[in-house]
This record gives sequence, structure tokens and C-alpha cells, in this order.
Amino acid sequence: MSRIVMKFGGTSVGSVERINHVADIVKAELDLGNQIVVVLSAMSGETDRLINLTKDLSDNFPSSEYDVVISSGEQTSAGFLAGLLSSKGIKAQSRMGWQIPIITNDDFRSARIKAIHSEEILNLLESNEVVVIPGFQGITSEGRITTLGRGGSDTSAVAIAAAIEADFCDIYTDVDGVYTSDPNKVPNAKRLDKISYEEMLEMSSLGAKVLQTRSVETAMNNNVVLRVLSSFSDLSEGKKGTLVCSENGISDKKIVTGVTSSSADAKLTLKGIKDKPGVAAEILGVLADNGINVDMIVQNISDDRRTTDLTYTVPVDESDKAKKLMEDLSSNLSYKDLIVDSNISKISIIGVGMRSNAGVASQMFRVLSQNNINIDVISTSEIKISVLISRDLTERALNMLHEHFELGKITE
Ligand code: ASP
Ligand code: MG
Repeated sequence: MSRIVMKFGGTSVGSVERINHVADIVKAELDLGNQIVVVLSAMSGETDRLINLTKDLSDNFPSSEYDVVISSGEQTSAGFLAGLLSSKGIKAQSRMGWQIPIITNDDFRSARIKAIHSEEILNLLESNEVVVIPGFQGITSEGRITTLGRGGSDTSAVAIAAAIEADFCDIYTDVDGVYTSDPNKVPNAKRLDKISYEEMLEMSSLGAKVLQTRSVETAMNNNVVLRVLSSFSDLSEGKKGTLVCSENGISDKKIVTGVTSSSADAKLTLKGIKDKPGVAAEILGVLADNGINVDMIVQNISDDRRTTDLTYTVPVDESDKAKKLMEDLSSNLSYKDLIVDSNISKISIIGVGMRSNAGVASQMFRVLSQNNINIDVISTSEIKISVLISRDLTERALNMLHEHFELGKITE
């Protein structure tokens, strides 16, 4: 017997037909003698619909009530499935985030889970109930409803799996696993059988959309074994999917495991700013004070030791705000020009094997140069290299890098 948390995303519960199929998948696990907790997203499109309604009502809709509204899509899904299972004679009960409770901090719209009281879930499992819990929602210690940020149901599932010490946390979605690259852009992309937490964390934060980044972080910190599976495949096909686990569980380590792209950033360049101590601190300080996350930063060495150029990236929806802040600083910094460019794409190669293999960066840059792709900005960490390029070259860069690092040959 295993204890399994099964999480189904928005498309997996997107219609009456899909919810029925979810019930079949749950029943199949139950028939194997497993204990099951189900965590659900809102039906696809529902969260967006609710968000738009709050916007129509007011452009400064308070965050605490916003969370009350947008957490409701998940409540509906949980009620639907628990009701459907019960009507089929399968013992099932729903519990909302606040009933469990799943305690979070009071960062409305993107709260963090602080604690989960697992006692009632465990009691229900002991009496052979399927426990159906809406993802995405929590409650503050003051009793206010919170949500965990877009895509947050993944994090709910992983955190619940950690709290009840589940053997697996199965994330069911509309693709059958994690791919070496986005199959919509790279036709030759292959499904990975296994990927390490560290790599998955980089893949998620650098553009792969399968899992919410925070859910991977939570899984890594708590050693929750994740399986990414499709709810669209036929039950008879068995479980293909991708296992996300610790590096020790992976024997054939590749140098590069995946190639991602992201068009979520905009690039700001301040030309001809004074080259003196404190300038970068001032610019980045202002951005930090205004809650704007800076990702990549480059500052050039100046020719004349008097002026230099500074380039950085911020989330594209914050670029107007960043631009305004830079304009406010202009008398202080006396730069010559400010250029905002959102026509960019960040391409990254990721792999734990990079730790022990030199020369991966130079291979990446060579592949790009041979394809006439100009690199604007570079940033690296132990297991990834990212470059900024012009957005229209995204697919070419992805495909060329995918081919060079032989990712199409990875599995099967
Ligand atoms: N329904 C929420 C969203 O669309 C949370 C989730 O699906 O994970 O972001
Ligand atoms: Mg999702």
C-alpha cells in the first residue's frame, strides 16, 4: 500500500468529461489498495475569469478579498470531484484549505505555507476516505483566506504530501512529463524519465511551465518524490511520466539535460552613466525598494573611466514601473540615454553535469555564433547558463542547442 497525493491541473478538470476521467484515475489507484489525497486546480480558465471580474469591479480591488474570490474556483472543483466519487459509491470527502487548516503568511496573492495540520487528513485516510482538497488556498493565522500565487496548486499538493509523509506526489497535467525542451518549439524534444530537483528548479524558473517553481523548491526541501504524469493518456497505457527526485537517484547524468526559453523579461540599458562607486547600488537599491526583482545584470568597463553602460532585466510587466524609477533618478545619475527592450528572449541550458565539465559555455556560445545569433547578456550559475537574444531567434536557438547537446537522443 502506498499513500499518494494526486494533483490534477486545470485542463485535467476542465469539463464534465475530464472530471469523470479523473474519477476513473483515482478509482484505479484506490483499487490497488492505496490511500489517496486528491488536490485540484480550478477548471481551466476559471481563475482568469474571476481575476478579470475583480478588475472590472475596481482597479484597486483589495488583495485580501481578491484571494477570497479567486480561491473559489478550486473549491468548486473539489466539491465536484468529491460529489462525483461519492455518487459512484466511492467514499470521498472534501476539505477546504481553511478547514484543514493550511496556515500561510499574510502575503495575499502569493502567500507561503507555514504549517499544515495533517491530523484530520490522516484520520479520514485511515477510515478509507478519499480526501479531496482544493489547491491554491490557505488561511492566515488571523483567519483570512489566502492564495499561493498563480500555479500554486502544485505547491499545495507537494506541501500536503510532505505533511502526511506520502510516498509519491503525482502531478497530473495535459502533457506526459517533463521534456528536454518545449515540444511546441522543438519538435525533437524528448520526455525525460528522471530529472533532479536542482535541474527541475532551474527549468521551472527559466521558462518550463509544467510545475510551479515553488512546488519544486518545497519538494526538494522535504524530499517529496514527484511524478509528472498525463491525465489525458489512456488508463491502459500505464504511467509514463517523469520522476523528479534527488540527484543520487539518477545514474546516467548528462552534461546538459534541458534547454528552455522565456520571454517574461524586459531589458533596460542606461547609457553613459557616471563610472563611480555607488551607482549600481543606487539603481538596484531603488528597484529593490519598489519590489522589482532584477534578474540579469551587466556593467561594462568604461573606456575613459568616466562613463559606462549598465544593463539589467526585470519582469516584463514591471518594465514601465522600472523605466519611471530610472527617469526619476536621471538628474542624480545624469545618464545619456535609457533604452527599454522587451523584444528579447532568455535562452538557458541546464544540467548538473556542468559542475564537472568545463567548456560547456564556450560550446553554447559557439553554436549561437555559428547560427548568427547575437548574445546581449550572459549569466551563469553552477548548473545553468543563460543568454539574452533577440526574441525572433528563440526557436532557432533552442533547436540548434538541442541538437548540439544531443538532447533528442536522451530517452527511449
Ligand atoms: N487556479 C490557479 C491558477 O490558475 C492555481 C492553479 O491552477 O494551480 O493559477
Ligand atoms: Mg499548473
